[in-house]
Amino acid sequence: MSDLRELYQQVILDHSKKPRNFRTLEGANRTAEGHNPLCGDEITLYLQVEDDVIRAVGFQGSGCAISRASASMMTDSVKGKTRAEAERLFERFHDLVTGETDEGRDPADLGKLAVFSGVKEFPVRVKCATLSWHTLRAALEGKGETVSTE
Ligand code: ZN
Repeated sequence: MSDLRELYQQVILDHSKKPRNFRTLEGANRTAEGHNPLCGDEITLYLQVEDDVIRAVGFQGSGCAISRASASMMTDSVKGKTRAEAERLFERFHDLVTGETDEGRDPADLGKLAVFSGVKEFPVRVKCATLSWHTLRAALEGKGETVSTE
């Protein structure tokens, strides 16, 4: 188990140092901003959505390692997904980091997002890990307002 935890930490560190999709997106048709005042994490998310499918994703912002790594992996995970699929993934991810995983659900379904399972031991970090996902939801809903985890 400790080996697994170490591996997870390495993945998170890698993504926080070299975030994927860390750019403003040319041709974005949905954007949203997110803010986690508790930690100071900020994110601007850019989506290109066509026919209800997330074709491209980019983000900018600053924050702690968890929020950066989470945004990096979220953007990787939702690319090519429909809005409903992305929403389901968020629900699964939220359950994972809050420790509310239902019996019968296989954490392996989450793929590499499972590396955030350790977050449930640090409740203050849950908002860091979910900020980019809340921002994704806001962007998909197209409300164009800043979401806050507070
Ligand atoms: Zn944070």
